[in-house]
Amino acid sequence: MAFENLTERLQAAMSKLRRKGKVTEADITEMMREIRLALLEADVNLQVVKQFTKQVRERALGAEVLESLSPAQQIVKIVDEELTKTLGSETVGIVKSPKIPTVIMMAGLQGAGKTTFAGKLANHLIKTEKARPLMIAGDVYRPAAIDQLKVLGQQLDVPVFDMGTDVSPVEIVRQGMALAREKKNDYVLIDTAGRLHIDEALMDELKQIKEVAQPNEILLVVDAMTGQDAVNVAQSFNEQLGITGVIITKLDGDTRGGAALSIRSVTGAPIKFIGSGEKLTDLEVFHPDRMSSRILG
Ligand code: GDP
Repeated sequence: MAFENLTERLQAAMSKLRRKGKVTEADITEMMREIRLALLEADVNLQVVKQFTKQVRERALGAEVLESLSPAQQIVKIVDEELTKTLGSETVGIVKSPKIPTVIMMAGLQGAGKTTFAGKLANHLIKTEKARPLMIAGDVYRPAAIDQLKVLGQQLDVPVFDMGTDVSPVEIVRQGMALAREKKNDYVLIDTAGRLHIDEALMDELKQIKEVAQPNEILLVVDAMTGQDAVNVAQSFNEQLGITGVIITKLDGDTRGGAALSIRSVTGAPIKFIGSGEKLTDLEVFHPDRMSSRILG
């Protein structure tokens, strides 16, 4: 399970402090050193670690904390608050278009979980607001992706617009959008292709799809297992495409989870959902405070 190791190490760092009645600056320095190592080992981005530890340290060294009756307890609270802040503080849902359809475009590397997330999101929208989404199969380079989306569509009773693999994704999206307007679908979910690595052709295609679809949301789907690399991927997609939100998948796996902590700070884009399994229902709305509690254990 994600964060297991990190949780253990953070708890160890803080429990030393808990045993002390009085806390000195040296105790805090020692604790911060351990927290810093724990975060780095969990694959959290160095800049994010620096920023986080600086904030915690400054607040923890404040007179009102050190001279209080329970300094250790207060410091644990500060760690929790700063972690929540790093993760984004607030829950940010899907931003809707004032007029239907709300268009949501998926982006990300191959295997990140875009197609699966499209199905999960459709399910979520149906369950929470009785939505009538249309899904567009824009991943023409991986024929299995079209079939995968169609299977999800059948399970959910959601129409899937596809034109096979011989038509350009931009044209597929253009025609899919026209169909959604005609059928008055309230959401359009666009599945796009990913590559194993970021390349110019992929970005160009995504930019063209963005142009045609004018999406309200461009959600970057990243695999938590990819560690530090997830941060680079997120940065690059954000620079080139302007993402509006991040989905972190596979947080159920044996991952160090640090990517989840870094991506918000590095891109400024909110994490909106997390994927916690392969099933359609394995989707959680992202709550920074709950994630922080989960990490701290
Ligand atoms: P795409 O290439 O980005 O469209 O990725 P897919 O949606 O095909 O997902 C790639 C693999 O990851 C599939 O085997 C999915 O079942 C799996 N997957 C997707 N999301 C999750 C998740 O949250 N947890 C786990 N454990 N597996 C996931």
